[in-house]
Amino acid sequence: MVDRIADFTQDLPSRRVSPIGQSSEAGRIADEFLAAPPEQGAALSMLMERVDRAADLAVESGSAGMLAAIPGGGLYSSALAEFYSRALNRFGGFASSAPGLTAMEDGVLRWIAQDVCGMPVGSAGVLTTGGSSANLSAVLAARRSRLGENIERGCVYVTAQAHHSVAKAARIAGIRNANIRVVPHTGDLRMDVPAAEAAVQQDRRAGLHPFLLVGTAGTTNTGAIDPLRQVGELARREELWFHVDAAYGGFFRLTRRGRGLMSGIESADSITLDPHKSLFLPFGTGALVVRDPARLAAAYADPDDLGVDGRPYLQDVRPYWRLPDYSGLSPELSREVRGLRLWLPLHLHGVAAFREALDEKLDLAARLHERLCDLPGLEVSAPPTLSIVTFRVRPADASETAQAAADKATRALLDRINADGRVLIHSTTIEGRQAIRICILTHRTHADLVERAVEIMTAAL
Ligand SMILES: *Cc1c(COP(=O)(O)O)cnc(C)c1O
Repeated sequence: MVDRIADFTQDLPSRRVSPIGQSSEAGRIADEFLAAPPEQGAALSMLMERVDRAADLAVESGSAGMLAAIPGGGLYSSALAEFYSRALNRFGGFASSAPGLTAMEDGVLRWIAQDVCGMPVGSAGVLTTGGSSANLSAVLAARRSRLGENIERGCVYVTAQAHHSVAKAARIAGIRNANIRVVPHTGDLRMDVPAAEAAVQQDRRAGLHPFLLVGTAGTTNTGAIDPLRQVGELARREELWFHVDAAYGGFFRLTRRGRGLMSGIESADSITLDPHKSLFLPFGTGALVVRDPARLAAAYADPDDLGVDGRPYLQDVRPYWRLPDYSGLSPELSREVRGLRLWLPLHLHGVAAFREALDEKLDLAARLHERLCDLPGLEVSAPPTLSIVTFRVRPADASETAQAAADKATRALLDRINADGRVLIHSTTIEGRQAIRICILTHRTHADLVERAVEIMTAAL
């Protein structure tokens, strides 16, 4: 299996990004895999052939040409670390059951909280399965900290550019849909802070209980970064929990440019980052870091010690030194040790390798933006903040008819670009208009791919 993985990894940069399969083939493969397991086992090689056919019938998320959604690099060293970690199969829910490995995980989280995000000493967090579950934990911590059990009047503030997982988290946390406020953004798609302030004050006057303000550091749509310093100051003035969703953008803080762009993030109460995005890890790793880990623990604790948590069989488990028990910082009990998948790549390649790769992505996006501005007939958005570039077919004039025609032409252009198969690009909607959105984020995407993408787009025009 390791040989197969090595071959796959070697071929990956040149693999076609969109699946080649016909829909009839997809149906057949799906039927095959829906069947129940047989009574008697079969040969590994035959089974792996089948697995590979299914794997080929998928978007190649880590290919150089993957420019849709937020690409997932799938760093090989992290996959190997995970393989090793799974084989060791240590229990990661309590520090006492694997103290060294818990310290490894805590060390990585302290680095993310303190070194990457600039939060104070004492801040740390938990590795989650992704940004959505990190956002959920943040909302739960904010709710417990600011509302206790009186959640009926609790209000959350986001912009329309915030990731949908934030509103989803608020709903899961029992916040009424009517109390999830979408505050206006300015023309550059960043939070309009005075408008947010007005909304908070209006809700307070109406007897509601504003408790959570969410800023985004790198929106999924365009990479815009909310004015975090002002958002944080508003949160402090109004005694709101300040959460920053930096799932996509957070690790750009490793670069000098990213550090400047995200200044103010360090004043957050909690921050979501996604190592499976901007640290190029395989899918399944998010992170939530918090200023005060006790607040996160409180979200999951039984405040009245009712004794209803029914765990007498855990009575021998003791806290271990000052290491966190991750089962107390998340809804999970049994869980794998998650730290090695981050610790090994960071120590093996060094932080500078990640910083350079992220700097390269910023350069590539700027380069792509420049090249697109040279192409005729396109309306290209402002230079990218991070590594997302958006553009559309230029409308003939400002009339609604011309705008609608440009929307249609934009979608048709995208279909022609994707028909080539070497790149995969998705569309989006920006302020109600269709746009083509390119996100550069795999560690395999380099300058040659950007040139190839420009060639493909030029031919498709
Ligand atoms: C991707 C993303 C999320 C969701 O993270 P998952 O890891 O996909 O669950 C949340 N917020 C932002 C800004 C994102 O880009």
